[in-house]
Amino acid sequence: MARIRIFETPAALAHVLAGHLARTLTVHPALVLGLATGRTPIPLYRELARLHAAGRADFSRATTFNLDEFLGVGAQDPRSYRAFMQKHLFGHINLAPRRIHFLNGAVHAGREVQRECDRYERAIERAGGIDVQILGLGTNGHIEALECVRVEWLQGADGRWTMQEMPDSAFELKADLVLLAMGFLGPVRAGMVAQSGVTLDPRGNVAANTLDYQTSLPKVFAAGDMRRGQSLVVWAIREGRQCARAIDQFLMGSSKLPR
Ligand SMILES: Cc1cc2nc3c(=O)[nH]c(=O)nc-3n(C[C@H](O)[C@H](O)[C@H](O)COP(=O)(O)OP(=O)(O)OC[C@H]3O[C@@H](n4cnc5c(N)ncnc54)[C@H](O)[C@@H]3O)c2cc1C
Repeated sequence: MARIRIFETPAALAHVLAGHLARTLTVHPALVLGLATGRTPIPLYRELARLHAAGRADFSRATTFNLDEFLGVGAQDPRSYRAFMQKHLFGHINLAPRRIHFLNGAVHAGREVQRECDRYERAIERAGGIDVQILGLGTNGHIEALECVRVEWLQGADGRWTMQEMPDSAFELKADLVLLAMGFLGPVRAGMVAQSGVTLDPRGNVAANTLDYQTSLPKVFAAGDMRRGQSLVVWAIREGRQCARAIDQFLMGSSKLPR
């Protein structure tokens, strides 16, 4: 039967739980830990790091599996859960990098996601399953609050405006249900756009005029949201038609397509 212990403060919970884990590691050094991100486990991770620094917690033979990762976010990305764990725990203890397990967020939506999940399940099975799972459940296991940060628009040296997190601006909004209504912030620049080296306009869209729709790269044309930034379907249709005509003109020297 599950035993429930209620602690007076998060610090008291972190202290007792970290001590328990450190003692368990001395008896079962090859412990398989399931870890979670979020604010709840941070005091625990801080306490584990402190015990490790004091020589009282040895993770050299332990294995970890984290719960989740953002889809489309690679491990090197500072917004990733992997980076969160590095900052709050892994960077402070002697866990072997090969025993740290994470879902790879840098996969493409669709079948690749399923393959990645299957790979992860098999890795957990090979490790013999999770011995201890750390979770932040709130009071009822559901959403309690939204953890937010304030952002501001800052202009970089290249003249482009980007949204930046304001330091120490974290705050919390109580919530039972969260609906995300997110706007489009411009073309995805990481990947093809960045690699091609095409010139961007000050808003971060691919620069091209509306006469010939040519970008700074020969034979590369841009139209619609890629060129205008967030816009409307009617503009996408208009620019698509005009761009098609410009390409025809470029290839054939003349065009009968409507402008
Ligand atoms: C949530 C939302 C709601 C909207 N509501 C409205 C609305 O009510 N009315 C309205 O008029 N407009 C609306 N818009 C805006 C409208 O959808 C866009 O302005 C329009 O779709 C832009 O068309 P586009 O052809 O320029 O780009 P997109 O429609 O974005 O098409 C670009 C295509 O290129 C593909 N692509 C991207 N990278 C690559 C690559 N490397 N290789 C191959 N393919 C690639 C993408 O998958 C996509 O299919 C909305 C937009 C959003 C996001």
